[in-house]
Amino acid sequence: MMEIKKYEKESEHLRKTRPTKDEYFMLLANLVSLRGTCPRLKVGAIAVKDGYILASGYNGAPSKMDHCIDVGCLMVDGHCHRVVHAEQNVVSMAARKGISLEGATLYVTHFPCDTCLKILINAGIKEIVYGKMYKNEVTEVLLKEAEEKGLIKIRQFKLDKERVKVFLDEVMKDEND
Ligand SMILES: [Zn+2]
Ligand SMILES: [Zn+2]
Repeated sequence: MMEIKKYEKESEHLRKTRPTKDEYFMLLANLVSLRGTCPRLKVGAIAVKDGYILASGYNGAPSKMDHCIDVGCLMVDGHCHRVVHAEQNVVSMAARKGISLEGATLYVTHFPCDTCLKILINAGIKEIVYGKMYKNEVTEVLLKEAEEKGLIKIRQFKLDKERVKVFLDEVMKDEND
């Protein structure tokens, strides 16, 4: 026999532990960042459109090349030049797989550098959502112009620590608990 059954208690629990879209995508960007290979900063990013994940990237050496964690950072003026930035890896992955990023939103763990910002604009990214501020005055100057010209939007979204704990507890919960 067919019936509609409401699991009130479970549904209520699910409503509380279900991430919002911003939380969901920012959490994923943070999980991606765990794969980063530069000890100076772990950055992760994902491009999404209409709720779909199009591509992901983290900061690390070009594929098949040596990692900072194994051979050391290649430092120039206080910046590591061995790694490809997470945002650039998102664009690279999309290029390799023939995926258009036109009109997509990029969730990234940190405020982008000016090079990444310029690449994202040219890749057709229309919105950047970043987690942590990573001061870059050049980016801010370029952003001001890009926003005024309606090329791209940017906003900050910070993950709440307690909420993240709730999500991870859900993930690790034993079904029989
Ligand atoms: Zn490095
Ligand atoms: Zn960058």
